[in-house]
Amino acid sequence: MRQEEATLSPNVLVKREVRCPLCGADFLHWSPRSGTFSLLRRDSDFCPHYHGINPTLYQICVCPRCNFAAYRDDFGDLSERLHQAVVAALSRVKLGAAVDFTQKERSLFAALRSFELALISAQAREAPLEVQASLLHRAAWICRYGDEMGREVSYLGRARDLYQAAFDHGVAKDRRTNDLAVAYLVGELMLRTGKILEARPYFHLVANAGDAKASLLRQATDRLDDANQASHIERLLKTIALFQPIAHLIGLISAHSERKSVAPGAALFRKGEPGLSMFVVAAGQAAVYLGDPAQSAPVAIVGPGETLGEMSLFLGRPRSATIVAPAARKGFVAVALEVIEIPRTAFRNLLKVDPEVVAAIAETIARRERENAYWLAELDLASDAPDGPQSLLLPKIRRFFGFGADLGADEVLDGPGSDVAVPLSLTPEPAAESLENGSTGREGE
Ligand SMILES: [Zn+2]
Repeated sequence: MRQEEATLSPNVLVKREVRCPLCGADFLHWSPRSGTFSLLRRDSDFCPHYHGINPTLYQICVCPRCNFAAYRDDFGDLSERLHQAVVAALSRVKLGAAVDFTQKERSLFAALRSFELALISAQAREAPLEVQASLLHRAAWICRYGDEMGREVSYLGRARDLYQAAFDHGVAKDRRTNDLAVAYLVGELMLRTGKILEARPYFHLVANAGDAKASLLRQATDRLDDANQASHIERLLKTIALFQPIAHLIGLISAHSERKSVAPGAALFRKGEPGLSMFVVAAGQAAVYLGDPAQSAPVAIVGPGETLGEMSLFLGRPRSATIVAPAARKGFVAVALEVIEIPRTAFRNLLKVDPEVVAAIAETIARRERENAYWLAELDLASDAPDGPQSLLLPKIRRFFGFGADLGADEVLDGPGSDVAVPLSLTPEPAAESLENGSTGREGE
């Protein structure tokens, strides 16, 4: 790769001179020149994804002298009383892991830090709740860009609570947002943080509001459907033994899972394929073949409530069996096979929320080793272990989910072992090289 491709070309960022309303320092704020980025898509919570440079990283102006931080267009004067409150709040900020905000180019780490500093300034200057919420929401987006889902969920939860408080108090009229947009975001962040039942009334409210913008109304209607589906999934997953050790995370798993139909005679997955998700049978039956389905008999038939494919998901091995929805035949009408697909990413993200989950799941899987032919086939290696299959399963599962010596490889936003719930506890910025690896080496969807 040529050197020029690794860094931004000189004309991508433009500078603007800014005077700090708190300490009076004059400094330069860099932001992307228009035309150097284009919007590719937005997630359902409006998180933008860009081609080219990401302007979201540059939304916050930070005074390099006193750390006062705010949206660029919110960098105005402060009253004497609020001035003192902000000075006091910022004086309590520990600067052990300070970021050099005079740098032109902003890393994900620096961007996250800028939103955290802006939140401290916003709270002290008594900024409207929806503004404070939007800062936390953007901090969550930065985590999403860095594939740090555990931290993302933590920020989303805090943003959700503030959006909800803003909605309850009424959104300030002079802001660019409004009550309906905030209600939608409450529902959206409820759903994204696994509070499925609580999400529905907010989507319902927006979907039935006469004065909602057409695009928002459509989106609320779609997300109400998603929430209803997630609610069905949640009810089913609550009955599954594998999920009992992680009952508190079922809402979050359900919100990231999807229901799928498999036509009679079609395969859900085939032996030898990579295992990127696991399945729970919701309706109908599935036939398990260790050999070619056309030439052999199934070794097991599984029905509603049973799980498929979690061993290859957790161990990173190819699928060890082919799963087929039974075809209709003479005198027999096949019930369509309905499954819940839980993607690997949903589990992986959850494990960052709660590493204990790994051990709990390994234990549950190991316990059913002897249950039937299908699981025996999946566990052919593990069953030879001296202390039972769990002694082999646990390290394998841990390794597969990125716990262990190579943990740092995809930690883009800070080092291992930091506390996600405490703001401004970030460790110093990793070298640019590892950041680059982290963001481009992210796992395929
Ligand atoms: Zn300042």
